[in-house]
Amino acid sequence: MTTPASRTLRRLPFTATTSRPLARLTLVNSHFQTSPFSTSTKMSHPSHPQSRGSETSGLSEWKQRAPYRVHEAQENFPVKYEANCHCGKVSYQLSRREPLDSKLCHCTTCQTQHAAPFQWAAIFHKTDINFTNGHHDLEWYDPTDKSIEHKLPCKVRCSYCHSPIMDEGRNMILLFPSLVHLKTDEDKALFKPRCHMFYGQRVMDIPDGLPKWSGLSDSSDLIEDSPPEKVRELERKREQERKEKFEKGENE
Ligand SMILES: [Zn+2]
Ligand SMILES: [Zn+2]
Repeated sequence: MTTPASRTLRRLPFTATTSRPLARLTLVNSHFQTSPFSTSTKMSHPSHPQSRGSETSGLSEWKQRAPYRVHEAQENFPVKYEANCHCGKVSYQLSRREPLDSKLCHCTTCQTQHAAPFQWAAIFHKTDINFTNGHHDLEWYDPTDKSIEHKLPCKVRCSYCHSPIMDEGRNMILLFPSLVHLKTDEDKALFKPRCHMFYGQRVMDIPDGLPKWSGLSDSSDLIEDSPPEKVRELERKREQERKEKFEKGENE
């Protein structure tokens, strides 16, 4: 698997000849590191395209749950932003003005899935989104199992124009700010990326002075032109953790 040809093949989602998950995909799956539980084990309905997979049990039960639950007009859902896919069949609103985080991901799965050098994603709670149209016009893809069943974490796209809508994790959603109508400079500043992750897999350098994690943010190394004070801060934190482990006799 070291020839350039086989490396190229490994990037294509549907050419793998083995069902064994690739190591890098397992790693990428950890984008969504949150709490480990996922709920449903009820039977799936393979004949119904919108009810596939362990997360989508029942004919339309998934539509009652966040992030797909459509809010009633009289419900209190303070709209801060509107967003839509390219064709406009899928549109949604957001009730949170400032994303919980905003990151650029350079992992090879994001490169392939977005057909771009990296992905820009803003993190929100599942309850921050309200689909105003087309939540039944969505399709799912689980990059770990290369499955189109609805299993978390997964990619969510418009089933008509195939614009990526979000990455749905177990507890959070990663929305793509390119779809959100950011009208003021202040709004744009709130969505500005705060770090790069999986920068070790990049296809191009982005010398913007932001922190750059070699892999997953906060649990890999800060590399390249990461701010020196951030690198020192991380080194101090890890040294402190090592010391505490040593004092507890947990070091090996
Ligand atoms: Zn669309
Ligand atoms: Zn990624």
